[in-house]
Amino acid sequence: MANAPTPKDWILGIHAYVPGKSTGKDGQKLTKLSANENPLGCSVAALEARGVAGHPAVYPDPDSQELRAAIGEVHGIDAARIVMGTGSDELLNLAAQAYAGPGDEVLYVRYGFSVYDIAARRCGAVPVVAPDADYGTDVDALLACVTEKTRVVFLANPNNPTGSWLPREEVLRLHAGLRPDVLLVLDGAYAEYLDPADDDGALELAATAQNVLVTRTFSKIYGLAGERIGWGTGHPAIVDMLNRIRGPFNVSLSGQATGLAAVKDRAFVEASRRHNAAERARFVGKLEALGNHGVRPLPSKANFVLILFEGKVTAEQVYLGLMDHGYITRWLPGQGLPQGLRITIGTTQQMDEIAEAIRAMCEGTK
Ligand code: PMP
Repeated sequence: MANAPTPKDWILGIHAYVPGKSTGKDGQKLTKLSANENPLGCSVAALEARGVAGHPAVYPDPDSQELRAAIGEVHGIDAARIVMGTGSDELLNLAAQAYAGPGDEVLYVRYGFSVYDIAARRCGAVPVVAPDADYGTDVDALLACVTEKTRVVFLANPNNPTGSWLPREEVLRLHAGLRPDVLLVLDGAYAEYLDPADDDGALELAATAQNVLVTRTFSKIYGLAGERIGWGTGHPAIVDMLNRIRGPFNVSLSGQATGLAAVKDRAFVEASRRHNAAERARFVGKLEALGNHGVRPLPSKANFVLILFEGKVTAEQVYLGLMDHGYITRWLPGQGLPQGLRITIGTTQQMDEIAEAIRAMCEGTK
């Protein structure tokens, strides 16, 4: 008999999620471009709604009905097909838990979002990592890793931390190549940052297929990461399963109120998308000019850029150097990317300062 509770073997194999930091050495407060938050903040209407969200002594609506109706209206989805989560992280975990268990396999691409590994292991399933194609997703490589044990496939589109993106035809090809008993989770945490012409068809697939769950979040373009609101949509049978196992009051009172106001403020969403697209293009252009120093920004459709440092100046040096300039970014050795630095797109001034600091480090003028 053990003299202490014994964690399950598969739980022991989990490494805790490493969040983007906001402080540097000695707890120094830094400008945070490490967690893909919205530099424009959030909708003013959402902030106002937060202040009058209701009395905290009272439980929130367990079904987030008003919020689901508003999301449904914006996206043309029947609210009955929407399930809410405490952030989309909760939904990713619930999807794995509902459809995979010990002995099963959960598949995703190398350099996929780190929560997929945790979600798989939490339920005792085996995480299987497909090879990437120059840091992007290769549908054929992913399909080649499917076995009879595969139960869930995760794909973030755009992907974090690489920023890579699969066009609609490729998403459809991935879906068509999967058995109908494999759940395809299309994680759209950054989907609102896409140019409308780049719509990957995920929501359409979720509306028609029996084995697709799309997840979205209020943490990124809506600027409500602190409120922890996510949502998912798919076949009613999938929504039903996730509703059975989610937390009963999993979106807080202020989460429901701010989310409701935020989803209605389409002007804020559009302004955020445009700001991001313009600043990302400007930033990437400046980084590309440093190509002769081995600086390689990967093409990104999200609100961050993964920069590979393949020359004399290393990602670690730039990470530390940017801290001296007051910025915390995301260096990714723990995700198998010691050469990679992920930088969230911030304000115009922030991106100018960072690009200039990187240039100075590369050209040795610092
Ligand atoms: N999916 C991806 C790809 C992400 O990058 C994130 C945030 N880091 C999430 C899901 C989860 O975000 P949240 O739980 O805040 O909705």
